[in-house]
Amino acid sequence: MRVVVVGAGLAGANVVEELRERGHEGEIVLIGAEPHLPYERPPLSKDVLLGKKETGDATVHDADWYSEHDIEVHTGTEVTSIDRERHLVVTSAGEQPYDVLVLATGCEPRRLALADGSGRPVRYLRTVEDSAAVKQALTDGANVAIIGAGWIGLEVAAAARLAGAQVTVHEMAALPLVGVLGPEVAERFAQLHRSHGVDLRLGVTVTADDLAEADVVVVGVGVLPRTALAEAAGLDVDNGVLVDAHLRSSDPDILAVGDIANHLHPVLGRRLRVEHWDTAIKQGKAAAATILGADEPYTRLPYFYTDQYDLGMEYWGSVGPDGYDRVRTTGDFSGAFRAWWIRDDVVVAAMQANDWDAADEMRASVGQPPPAESGP
Ligand SMILES: Cc1cc2nc3c(=O)[nH]c(=O)nc-3n(C[C@H](O)[C@H](O)[C@H](O)COP(=O)(O)OP(=O)(O)OC[C@H]3O[C@@H](n4cnc5c(N)ncnc54)[C@H](O)[C@@H]3O)c2cc1C
Repeated sequence: MRVVVVGAGLAGANVVEELRERGHEGEIVLIGAEPHLPYERPPLSKDVLLGKKETGDATVHDADWYSEHDIEVHTGTEVTSIDRERHLVVTSAGEQPYDVLVLATGCEPRRLALADGSGRPVRYLRTVEDSAAVKQALTDGANVAIIGAGWIGLEVAAAARLAGAQVTVHEMAALPLVGVLGPEVAERFAQLHRSHGVDLRLGVTVTADDLAEADVVVVGVGVLPRTALAEAAGLDVDNGVLVDAHLRSSDPDILAVGDIANHLHPVLGRRLRVEHWDTAIKQGKAAAATILGADEPYTRLPYFYTDQYDLGMEYWGSVGPDGYDRVRTTGDFSGAFRAWWIRDDVVVAAMQANDWDAADEMRASVGQPPPAESGP
């Protein structure tokens, strides 16, 4: 069986690794448009910007590892179409036949015309090259305008303040991260950034005038799943490639994993597309299991983390469209902090900040009755 993986990011790397781990002896081909071997993106908006890590430190495996595992890797090679009838993909360097195809093409930053037309230097942040360009702009005294107070915008804001830049963040919503965290916890992130000297402008629509003085504009207004290939091939696509519990698309010989997969989650009982590091790894491995015939549906709950200034936080679960009735919190952001989002007396999501020993307990609390009010 010849397995071809399109997209040499974290999810793609984990598919090929797990195939060999599980003893697959057939041919494996990994094709990626970037000129690099698969690497992890989280450090690009954290330690790389802070000068604590080089971009190369985040490479998943070096070239020797792929040759030792007999995995054919084509970097700098874009797949331009899928021919489902002939079971092959067309690339910028020729055709690649497959028995099983895995799509792991990830996401790309949503562009903002207002920023692009502002006449100021504009940066997005997805690749190692983007990260190097943002890092260069974060200098002492620089005027940095950030559009979007999501994870990327806030992590860049923290790195920029630590570099001594003047930072303005423009956000349409009433609070940063409010869509994910709700107002109770989002408010703490607003306070965190204001206490570090960020000019946080909430509930605003940014204008060209707002950007006129900026030395650099960093845009972090979300990402879009790269589904063009899947759509052109006639796969079912709706906010990502639709996949079943085992990560199979509407074509049983094609799977999708990571940021592009809109997965039917068997535990949550609804579709979910997750743009996080842990999902890219674990879905990559789960897809390999499916390919090799294992009946192992992907049941893991979403998990993500962020680092901003001295705050490190982790979050498990998914509140989803039904929302939550209440949030229970303990502690505060300057010390150890915990939060539980609760619906119908069940914890639907939990987080810890600077309370690393709590991680296992918080993860286990999701899906359970909330902890007693007299608890920790
Ligand atoms: C700056 C940054 C910081 C982040 N920090 C965190 C964090 O702290 N915590 C967290 O949980 N998550 C974080 N994430 C999210 C996490 O990195 C992503 O969820 C993860 O990278 C998704 O992996 P993926 O392999 O699905 O997609 P990607 O990483 O996007 O990789 C897809 C690859 O496919 C290639 N590709 C696309 N189309 C084609 C084609 N037609 N032919 C060939 N190749 C193609 C792309 O070039 C790309 O290399 C961060 C992301 C970024 C950008």
